[in-house]
Amino acid sequence: MKINIKENTLELMLGDITKQATEAIVNAANGTLLGGGGVDGAIHKAAGPELLVECKRIRKGLLKGELLSTGKAVMTGGYSLPAKFVIHTVGPVWQGGANDEERLLSDCYRNSLQLSLDNNINSISFPSISTGVYRFPVKPASEIALRSILEFLDQNHLGKVIMMLYSERDFDVYQSSLKKLL
Ligand code: ADP
Repeated sequence: MKINIKENTLELMLGDITKQATEAIVNAANGTLLGGGGVDGAIHKAAGPELLVECKRIRKGLLKGELLSTGKAVMTGGYSLPAKFVIHTVGPVWQGGANDEERLLSDCYRNSLQLSLDNNINSISFPSISTGVYRFPVKPASEIALRSILEFLDQNHLGKVIMMLYSERDFDVYQSSLKKLL
């Protein structure tokens, strides 16, 4: 499913984000930036060891040894990935919904898109942030993700945004949420 928002496009796709050749792909990282399971592990594996070296450098330098806060985003190279850049953002862990999870998830999408815009990146792919190990229910997560992307594309000229879903079930949920939002 593909739609136009002013001079931008948003497309829902089913597949592996590590194979995506958009200029940037987004990693659902954790605050340590040291890699992990799920999409994070897959991205580090496909990018090769240099990605971890750059992530460690960002932790020491830009982040002064602190964790990357939930909702924030930083950018690295893509190394052996087809994508030139990886934008690492930390999704909220689902704790029932009363701990600001909605706003923090929305921040992940908005801050990643803003970072792309600031770096003249014209195409970006997102995974379904927080809906794996972090247990955010897919239906509300899909509504927040798509609403955040649509709002951003309505106000900015970015180019192409892909939501890369990893299961048919997730794809169907995102598709019905998008239809509902339009
Ligand atoms: P989080 O910790 O933010 O929940 P996960 O990596 O556990 O992150 O899951 C986020 C989403 O990424 C899940 O929907 C998972 O199925 C999906 N995912 C895992 N591997 C890939 C991949 N290679 N490409 C795209 N999506 C993926």
